[in-house]
Amino acid sequence: MNKKVAILGGGLAGLTAALHLSQNNISVSLFEKDPYPRHRVCGEYISNEIMPYLNELGVNLQAENPVLIDRLRFSNKSGKEICSPLKMGGLGISRYRLDYLLYQKAIESGCEVQHATITHVELKNDLFNISTEEEQFEDFDIVLGAFGKRSILDKNLNRKFFHENSGWLGVKAHYHNLDFPDNEVQLHNFNGGYCGLSKTETGAINACYLTSFKSFKKYRNTQDFKRSVLQVNPKLDAFFQNSEMIFDKELTIAQINFSKKSLVEAHILMVGDAAGLIHPLCGNGMAMAIHSAKIASEEILEFYKFDLSREELEHNFQKKWKMAFSSRMRYGRILQKLLLNDRLTSMSLNTLSAFPGMLPKIIKKTHGHYVQ
Ligand SMILES: Cc1cc2nc3c(=O)[nH]c(=O)nc-3n(C[C@H](O)[C@H](O)[C@H](O)COP(=O)(O)OP(=O)(O)OC[C@H]3O[C@@H](n4cnc5c(N)ncnc54)[C@H](O)[C@@H]3O)c2cc1C
Repeated sequence: MNKKVAILGGGLAGLTAALHLSQNNISVSLFEKDPYPRHRVCGEYISNEIMPYLNELGVNLQAENPVLIDRLRFSNKSGKEICSPLKMGGLGISRYRLDYLLYQKAIESGCEVQHATITHVELKNDLFNISTEEEQFEDFDIVLGAFGKRSILDKNLNRKFFHENSGWLGVKAHYHNLDFPDNEVQLHNFNGGYCGLSKTETGAINACYLTSFKSFKKYRNTQDFKRSVLQVNPKLDAFFQNSEMIFDKELTIAQINFSKKSLVEAHILMVGDAAGLIHPLCGNGMAMAIHSAKIASEEILEFYKFDLSREELEHNFQKKWKMAFSSRMRYGRILQKLLLNDRLTSMSLNTLSAFPGMLPKIIKKTHGHYVQ
C-alpha cells in the first residue's frame, strides 16, 4: 500500500479529512479549484456539536473571536415570530476565516494542496488516477469526494441527482447593522424561501437566503427580489432598511439540490455535501460535513491498519454515515416542507407559540450529540 489518499475539494469536509489523515501519517494530496481565503454562500452558524472534535484536531475556533449564539428567532412571512433557546448552541464565524484556518492547519500537518480542477477519476489495477484537463496524478489508494453540492465531477461521474431539476438558489452578503443581537441566529420566512441572519467574528451580519428559482425568476435581479419578496416580511424589512451592505455585490449559487445521493460512486467515498445536503434551515450542514470527514478518515485508518479490502472499507463507511445522518436528513426534509408551506407554517407557529417546549425538541431531531 502507498498510504496515499487524494481528496477532491477543499471545503470543510475535504480540509478536515486532510488534517485528520495527515496527522496520522497518511500522505494526503488535496485538490481545490479556488484560492483561499474566499467568501462562500453559507449561513455561517456552526453548531457546537463539532467543537470537541475540532479541538482534538488542534483547531480552536474560540480563539478566532467568533460570536456565541444560543438563541433562535423565527418568523413567518407576516412577521409573527417565536424565540427559542438553542440548547447546544453554536458559533458565528465567516467561511472566509473558517476555511482559511483549516487550510493553514492542513498545510502545517503536511498535506499537499494543489490548486486544480479535477475532471476525471479512474480506478486501474486497484489504484486511482485522477486528472485535470491538462495533467494527471497517479497511484492513490483511496479517493475522497469532497467537492460540495454540485461539481463538474458529479456530471462526469453521471450521478443521478445531477440530471434532476434543482430549483434552489442561495444568496449571501455581509452587512453593517449596529442593532443586531450577538447571541441570536434568526430565520425569517418569505414567499418561496427563508433568510438566515447572524453575526460573524468581524462584527458583520451575514444575511444568507435560500429561495426556489420559481419564486426568484419573476424578478430582474436580487435587489428587486429582496425589495419585492423578502422585505414583505416586516422583520426582514426592518433589517435591510437599517443595514448597509459591505460586499460589492451579493454572492449567489444556483442549482442547489437536496435529493438523496450515493455515498460511494466509482469507488470514491463521498463526504460533506457531495454525500448529501441537509436543508440549510437546520443550521447543521457544516457540522455534518466535518463529522462525515471524521467518519471517512477513521475508516481509512482502519483500512490501512487491518489491511481491509476496498469492499469492506466502502461497506463500513456507508454503514457509519447512515447511522450518523440518515434520520436527521429525513427530519430536515420534513421541516423544509413544513416551513415552506404558508398554511402549515402559520399553523406550526401557532402551535409552537402555545407549546414553546416543542421547538427545542424539533431542533434536536436535526442535530447530533457532541462529536468527540
Ligand atoms: C444557502 C445555504 C446556507 C447554509 N447555511 C448553513 C449554516 O448556517 N450552517 C451550517 O452548518 N451549514 C449551512 N449550510 C450548509 C453548508 O454550507 C455546507 O453543508 C458545507 O459548506 C459543506 O461543506 P463541503 O466541504 O461538503 O462543501 P464546500 O464547502 O462547498 O466545499 C467543496 C469544495 O470543493 C471544491 N471543488 C468542487 N469541484 C471541484 C473539482 N472538480 N476540483 C477541485 N475542487 C473542486 C469547491 O471549490 C469547494 O471549495 C448552508 C448551505 C446553503 C446552500
